[in-house]
Formats: sequence, structure tokens, C-alpha cells
Amino acid sequence: MTTATLTGVCPECETGLTLPPILVGETLSCPECMLTLRVEAIADGRLTLEMVEVTLRDWGQ
Ligand SMILES: [Zn+2]
Repeated sequence: MTTATLTGVCPECETGLTLPPILVGETLSCPECMLTLRVEAIADGRLTLEMVEVTLRDWGQ
């Protein structure tokens, strides 16, 4: 039985990540740098991850 895990590399800290099956467009947090990453693509069990800017809406102004 194949273990369906996916691998990727954090674009920020270059930590290798092993993840359970996840879909394109889902987000996760890097356990090393706590950055929020979004799955951009999946190819042959490898994820392309992109960091997501989590910006709070400006208020005040
Ligand atoms: Zn990271």
C-alpha cells in the first residue's frame, strides 16, 4: 500500500516538508518559520509552495 504523502520545500526557510494529501489552493503553516504557505501546484507528489502575505485589513485611516 502506497503512503500518499506529498513533499515540498518552504520557500522562506527551505525546510523540507512532508504533508498528508492536500489540494491546490489549500494553505498550511511551515512548522519552522510559521509562515503561511499556499499550494500552487502538485506534480509527482511534489508541492510547489508559495508564501502568503497575511495582512490584516487596514483600519483607521
Ligand atoms: Zn519555513
